[in-house]
Amino acid sequence: MKEKFENIADIYGTPVYVYFEDILLKRAKKVKEVFEDLNFLPTVAVKANNNPALLKILEEMGFGADILGEGELLACTLAGISPDKIVWNGNGKTFEQKEYMIKNKVKYVNVDSFEEFNYLWKEENNIELFLRVNPDIDAKTHPYISTGLKKHKFGMSFTQAEDLLKKYSERISGFHLHIGSQITEVLPFKEALEKTYELAKKYNIRKINIGGGWGIKYKSENELDLNILRKELLPTLKNFDLIINEIGRFIFAPAGFLLTKVVMVKKTETKTFVVTESGMNHLIRPALYGAYHEIEVLDKSGPVEKVDVVGPLCESGDFLAKDIELNLPKIGDLIVVKNAGAYGFSMANNYNGTTQPAEVLVKKDGSLKLIRKKQKVEELFSSCII
Ligand SMILES: *Cc1c(COP(=O)(O)O)cnc(C)c1O
Repeated sequence: MKEKFENIADIYGTPVYVYFEDILLKRAKKVKEVFEDLNFLPTVAVKANNNPALLKILEEMGFGADILGEGELLACTLAGISPDKIVWNGNGKTFEQKEYMIKNKVKYVNVDSFEEFNYLWKEENNIELFLRVNPDIDAKTHPYISTGLKKHKFGMSFTQAEDLLKKYSERISGFHLHIGSQITEVLPFKEALEKTYELAKKYNIRKINIGGGWGIKYKSENELDLNILRKELLPTLKNFDLIINEIGRFIFAPAGFLLTKVVMVKKTETKTFVVTESGMNHLIRPALYGAYHEIEVLDKSGPVEKVDVVGPLCESGDFLAKDIELNLPKIGDLIVVKNAGAYGFSMANNYNGTTQPAEVLVKKDGSLKLIRKKQKVEELFSSCII
């Protein structure tokens, strides 16, 4: 891969997000095959990666999409994803958005609260309603990406869902569950599903969206074992007529790499800092969640040292990794940050007036395709009025 990355840096410059189509296809295939024998609609969580060229690859495999609003719907439209495979999510849907989604024939919505139902969904329309229930299950993941406990802002309790069903059960076609992200154990998924099934039986709800959150191996943890997941969930899922899931990280993360350049190597009295072109503007997960991403220097001729890899921005929180062992690079050397395909580019921003990287796809046959141009400085203020 070293030569490939060097070649990409030569052609497109850095920083650049690099995606490998073969990895993406392999990951998507795993997700698609889990419940293939059931009436299963796998969808991709667009928030994890919204590049239409990548979404198109998944569309061709039969995936639908999980979206938050108009922007992500547009990404899906550009990728050719049919609206009858689209699920609209969110805890802050507006009336205007509802009109927009109906006009664009989006098929499914996950209703986050009783209040949302009263405000937006009491009247008959063509969208199928799923109730997002909060099963009060500890997903044992990072607090910022955990969503299935009573204290979290998402979903409604079983009691609230029942209150709604008692009055409007004929309007509701399914339940939706999403208990968090980067979950590597099967048990929380199983418990949440079984709890929800009890309620589904009572009100004869025949469709279920089991959400996403399937965890990957960033460091020492094991990837969620899909064979065990299947084995544990199948007996319950068999009772439903339609099963939807919404997977982001599991599909995208391992397929993407952030390729960036070292701009400085700096020693203080206590530490060595490798400063790269990219910081929390291009990959915010380390700064936001203390997330770990493996980093590799392409030229491994330097001695291995303990370093912090940091960005160039004016924040102490601007880092890509802390206290990691790295072959000490020189100014201008290339480094790659791994597992950056999910919540990498999609969370990138323009902090400190910096521009966003390009995105390049390495196709199955090894050829390269630019799938997003590097942002230009001149584009930064194009919407400002002076
Ligand atoms: C974030 C999110 C997903 C995708 O989560 P991953 O961990 O990336 O699979 C799916 N559904 C909902 C409702 C989400 O908020």
